[in-house]
Amino acid sequence: MGKDLIDELKKSHYTVALTGAGVSTGSGIPDFRGSNGVYSKYPEYVFDIDHFYTDPSDFYRFWKEAFPLMIQAKPNNVHLLLAELERIGLLKVVITQNIDGLHQKAGSKNVIELHGNIHEHYCSRCKKKYEVEKVKELLQKRSVPYCNCGGLIRPNIVFFGENLPSEALKEAIEHAKSCNVMIVLGSSLVVYPAAQLPIIAKDHNAMLIIVNRGKTGLDDLADLKLDVDLIGFANDLSEQLQLA
Ligand code: NAD
Repeated sequence: MGKDLIDELKKSHYTVALTGAGVSTGSGIPDFRGSNGVYSKYPEYVFDIDHFYTDPSDFYRFWKEAFPLMIQAKPNNVHLLLAELERIGLLKVVITQNIDGLHQKAGSKNVIELHGNIHEHYCSRCKKKYEVEKVKELLQKRSVPYCNCGGLIRPNIVFFGENLPSEALKEAIEHAKSCNVMIVLGSSLVVYPAAQLPIIAKDHNAMLIIVNRGKTGLDDLADLKLDVDLIGFANDLSEQLQLA
C-alpha cells in the first residue's frame, strides 16, 4: 500500500496534508474522540468558549493535566515523515487542527494552524502575552490564572463557538482548492470548518486519501481510506521512500 501511495504522491504536483489529534497520540497526547480520548474524562462543554468565560476552572483543571504533556511531547514518526515529504518536495503544506506545535518541532516549515497554538497565552482583557511557564506558576497559587489588570488569561487556541483565525482559514481554503491530492491523517473529520477542507478539495477534483483508525465523517467521500495505525503507516511509507 505504501508503494501505491508513493506513486500517487510522486505523480501529484500539489499535495496537502490535513492532520488531526490522531497524529499526536503516538507522542503521548490523547485525542478527543479516540478510545482513550479526552472526552472519556472531560465533557465537551469544557472546551466551549461560553463555558470557559463562565467557569474557567473546569478548563484549567484539564490544562494542568494536559498542557505540560503537550509542551514536553516530542514529534513521532508521523510528524517526521510529513517534514521529510516536504523537504523532498512531495508535500506542499501541512494544515493542522492540532495545537501542540509538533509539526514545527519535527521540522515542517509550511504549517497552517487552524486552531491556534498552546505555546501562546494572553490576557483576554488587556491582551498582554504570557509565557507558558508564567501561567504554570500562576496556576500553582490559584485554580485560574489572572493578569495584573484583573483579566482572565487564556491560551491562544480556538474554543468551540469561536471563529478560526481568518488568515489561516483563508490560506487553507486556497490550498484545498489548488491541490491534486489531499491526505487526511488522524482526524475524525467532524469538527467544522476544518472538515470542510476535504469537501472543497474533492469539489475541485483532488484525490482524497484518509488515513485514520476508525470511522470519519467523510469516509464516503474518500478515494482511498486506510483504517490503520498511523505510526505503522508512517514507518511503512518511510521505508518505501528509502527504496524509491
Ligand atoms: P478527534 O479526536 O476527533 O479524532 C482523532 C482520530 O484519530 C480518531 O478517529 C482516532 O480514532 C484517530 N486516531 C488516534 N490515534 C490514532 C493512530 N495512532 N493511528 C490512526 N488513527 C488514530 O481529533 P480531531 O479530528 O483532530 O478533532 C479534535 C479537535 O481537538 C481538533 O480541533 C484539535 O484542535 C483538538 N485536539 C488537539 C490535540 C493536539 O493538539 N494534539 C489533541 C486533542 C484534541
